[in-house]
Amino acid sequence: MEAMRMNGNTGKSLGRDALPEELKPLVERACQGLSPDRSGLETLLGWPEERAAGLARAAEQVRAHWFGDAVSFCGILNAKSGSCSEDCAFCAQSAHYAGQAPEYGFLPLGEIVRAAQALRDAGASRFAVVTSGKRLSDADFEHLLQAVRTVADLGLHADCSPGILDRDRLEAFRRAGGCTYHHNLETGRTFFPRICSTHAYDEDVRAVRDALKAGLEVCSGGIFGLGESWEDRLELALELRDLGVSSVPVNFLHPMPGTPMADRPVLSCAEALKILALFRFVLPDRHVRICGGRHDVFGPEEREWAYAAGASGIMVGDYLTLRGRDAGEDRELARRLERRPG
Ligand code: SF4
Repeated sequence: MEAMRMNGNTGKSLGRDALPEELKPLVERACQGLSPDRSGLETLLGWPEERAAGLARAAEQVRAHWFGDAVSFCGILNAKSGSCSEDCAFCAQSAHYAGQAPEYGFLPLGEIVRAAQALRDAGASRFAVVTSGKRLSDADFEHLLQAVRTVADLGLHADCSPGILDRDRLEAFRRAGGCTYHHNLETGRTFFPRICSTHAYDEDVRAVRDALKAGLEVCSGGIFGLGESWEDRLELALELRDLGVSSVPVNFLHPMPGTPMADRPVLSCAEALKILALFRFVLPDRHVRICGGRHDVFGPEEREWAYAAGASGIMVGDYLTLRGRDAGEDRELARRLERRPG
């Protein structure tokens, strides 16, 4: 791993390093907006982890082609936590496990506004109100709409992650000034039954399709390090590409005590870089955002990789059930790496 540490290199200097020869055709295709063909996908899936830094440089070239020096900062607030009816094996909010996520009902508007303002002041341009559970009650949905209107009035893109919304609610969210509907597929279709038994994969796929049909932007991705294979990861990437989502959050498992994933190892930095590259190449012109688990996979000397391995967005501030770092650290890192938060 020592060889992968950046040791003070800037993202810019990384970009000037030689690109591995066998990745040049993939970069060329990706810069035309095309996913890799079958042999390109095989190259990506079989790429040796010892050479993950070269792969990350290639992914970074594709990102720079589409997004220039911008980095999209987004923030979330866990506005209603715990007691979830679903049994997602990684989640401390599930009522099926003795996870340690706090339990509380929908936070008052004032608290949501304060969190949104703090993240806006730290450079975030988007803010998502996240609630646990599969569906909101009517009263909670009205509260969500109020929160969305208020967040939009602060000049932020007002996003939400409220479980499944039917078409009327999607339309109401849009009319309230809502921007992006967030709903993760979590993992590939084949692996999904191993991590969730309380609902079918197709329910999540339908939720994404309905939001797209309602004219909303959709942010949908997954969580990695659950024991899924590279084929499972590719299956998820292709599903998201074919659905037409505009943004893909990449979360790395932080094993939560009390959940079935409590004893799983944290992914290595090299494996995380390979995952980011896979998503950047399969969805070359869409946002790929590094979200939860970033501080587990990128150690103190590796944290610049979050800005130099193909991701076009970073979640700043706190995560769903874990404290993050001060968003000011990210603003400073972006400044040093000559990336422009927006
Ligand atoms: S990931 Fe979402 S749906 Fe699954 S248990 Fe956690 S809060 Fe519930």
